[in-house]
Amino acid sequence: MKQILIIGGGFFGMYLAEHFAQRGCAVRLVEKEPQFMTRASYANQARVHNGYHYPRSVLTALRSRISFPRFVSEFRECVDSDFEKYYLIGNPLGKVSAKQFLKFCERIGAQCELAPNRIKALTNPALIEACFSVVEYAFDAVKLRDVMIERLASSTVVSSLNTSVESVRQQGEGLLAEIRNEVSEETETICADHVFNCTYSRINYVNAHSGINFVPLKHEMTEMCLVEVPDQLKQLGITVMCGPFFSVMPFPPAGLHTFSHVRYTPHYEWRDGDGIEYEDAHAKFASAQRNSAWRYMQKDAARYIPVLSECSYQSSLWEVKTILPRSETDDSRPILFLPNHGLKGFHCIMGGKIDNVYDAVEAITTQNLLE
Ligand SMILES: Cc1cc2nc3c(=O)[nH]c(=O)nc-3n(C[C@H](O)[C@H](O)[C@H](O)COP(=O)(O)OP(=O)(O)OC[C@H]3O[C@@H](n4cnc5c(N)ncnc54)[C@H](O)[C@@H]3O)c2cc1C
Repeated sequence: MKQILIIGGGFFGMYLAEHFAQRGCAVRLVEKEPQFMTRASYANQARVHNGYHYPRSVLTALRSRISFPRFVSEFRECVDSDFEKYYLIGNPLGKVSAKQFLKFCERIGAQCELAPNRIKALTNPALIEACFSVVEYAFDAVKLRDVMIERLASSTVVSSLNTSVESVRQQGEGLLAEIRNEVSEETETICADHVFNCTYSRINYVNAHSGINFVPLKHEMTEMCLVEVPDQLKQLGITVMCGPFFSVMPFPPAGLHTFSHVRYTPHYEWRDGDGIEYEDAHAKFASAQRNSAWRYMQKDAARYIPVLSECSYQSSLWEVKTILPRSETDDSRPILFLPNHGLKGFHCIMGGKIDNVYDAVEAITTQNLLE
């Protein structure tokens, strides 16, 4: 029986752990934090992508079109579809015109209709060229965590919280991982045939401590504001495309809306790569100064939708957002999949969005990694 170690109990690590257990492997899942899915898998905009967000990357849009119904059906009880979703085309700074957006939706086969006048009436016509009604949902990360915890409990996966993998090295045909308990600080080693590094912003932490090449990644310290929206917006999600604009989306676990802004959500950025001194994303996150940019976000967004000036700020979700350098130009969200990265049996996996998990499973299966 293959021994599999999964590093990272975010949505990707949990989903893959169950997947390998179902394939008859002995799976150990370790998560550094005291609870599963408390990092990027919780602190994100909760959008179940259905393609609309990616007019500059048709491949990402088409993959989302395939994953969307699958995710919605697999995690039905975690999906909030009880709101209206609108994509607005910003002008004059937009990178996509209304005509181009419509054509793009047609190309990817995504439903898109002119929004009703009551939605148009919310906007400043000098800055919004068009409003479209689309089909896009939000997921509840807390319900998703509960579902995944339940699924793992009824599987053969052995999981440990407060446990971090420090390094991995080759031992014979297999791998030996050094594991540290974050509370007692005790260390132990465990053997595995395959190790999956699913640590998102921290992929290079294990690599750095194992003498393995860095994966080039870009990190952003991000802030999404949690706000109470005025009554007219309570049952709506709004995204203004495609440029230095913003999104207001229901955030089901808090009963509030997240407010993100292309210009103000990222506070600063840094990179991992060969020749760059490695910085641990979690350590950087823990010591980061958190001065909210809410006032800037709100002031700018209210120019497009004046009623947004009535939002009441509650708090902010901070998290490190990690993207592949190649995504910077076209805003695509492919998965990172590096099988046998530096060591035989050591695989790095990262998804730029939650539903990418299906692409990850497909990539692993196609490679016949466990044969
Ligand atoms: C601001 C923001 C907005 C986003 N918006 C969306 C959105 O609207 N829709 C969408 O689909 N996606 C969105 N994403 C992307 C999405 O959040 C990620 O693609 C997804 O959560 C990645 O899941 P993961 O399991 O790889 O990462 P994580 O949830 O971060 O899990 C990685 C886990 O690894 C653990 N870990 C790290 N190092 C170690 C170690 N050495 N040993 C053990 N454990 C370790 C961490 O504690 C963490 O729990 C957004 C991301 C951000 C940051």
